Amino acid sequence: MRLLPALLALAAARPLACADSHWCYDIQAKASNYACLGPSQWGGDCKKNRQSPINIVTTKAQVDPNLGLFSFSGYDKKQKWKVQNNGHSVMVLLEDEASVTGGGLAARYRAKQMHLHWSEELDKGSEHTLNGVRYAMEMHIVHEKEKGTSRSEKEAQDPKDEIAVLAFLVEAGSEKNDGFQPLVEALSYVPRPKMNTTMNDGISLLDLLPKKETLRHYFRYLGSLTTPGCEEKVVWTVFQERIQLHKDQIAAFSTKLYYDSEQKLKMTDNVRPLQRQGQRLVFKSQAPRQLLPLPLPTLLVPMLTCLLAGFLA
Ligand SMILES: [Zn+2]
Repeated sequence: MRLLPALLALAAARPLACADSHWCYDIQAKASNYACLGPSQWGGDCKKNRQSPINIVTTKAQVDPNLGLFSFSGYDKKQKWKVQNNGHSVMVLLEDEASVTGGGLAARYRAKQMHLHWSEELDKGSEHTLNGVRYAMEMHIVHEKEKGTSRSEKEAQDPKDEIAVLAFLVEAGSEKNDGFQPLVEALSYVPRPKMNTTMNDGISLLDLLPKKETLRHYFRYLGSLTTPGCEEKVVWTVFQERIQLHKDQIAAFSTKLYYDSEQKLKMTDNVRPLQRQGQRLVFKSQAPRQLLPLPLPTLLVPMLTCLLAGFLA
């Protein structure tokens, strides 16, 4: 039997091949006939039980009064940012120029990079879902905890919130989003992995976000990075208000960028599947805005009961 030695050789070679293979998203795994490791095969901490993204059920999220307003610093600074195709997404390098405190965070967090997740279809591109609804894109601003800024020694050493990601869902609107346009235009200059460029016009991080007064509404939970090694050290903030981009701006991400240097596979559907929430709680920043007055009958019944009791006494 000549087949057996061949099979044994193949089996021996396989672990090496696996270790060598790079991680990828499902769409790439399928296109490459599983030459790269799709999400179900990701290593590191990716199989643990405090993973991201998750589906957020807004009615089940608990109000946490500590989740107050964010204080953004450097977010208003206009700059021609460096933009990079990192083979998994398009990344804007933020070079420690901005930071964030408040919002229930235990320390000051410095902005490192921003990147996005998307799909060609407008209901398949976000990583987190809200009440089962998936949006066109999701933007992640990744921050690292700044040493010496924690409220307490204990909080400084908590590994669960070493990274703070501010996540914004994106949906298609009817107008062009001028704030995003310098980034959208930069995409044409970084079609292939490892390519870099600089934006032609300066924009601030605030130019990319929804209106500032809406940023008081957000969800909070502890989870992980959504790419390997999926380290469970992320304090997640998912904002309720969506960013609006024109559908052509959303489409540009899928049409201008590629996963591979041969430009065979369009960069799209760079979305990790939903993970189990398990025992984790999701919190929200405040009770729903409109507190309705108590309906009349709930006031009248006790009043009448009292009156009646008074008469009968
Ligand atoms: Zn991300």
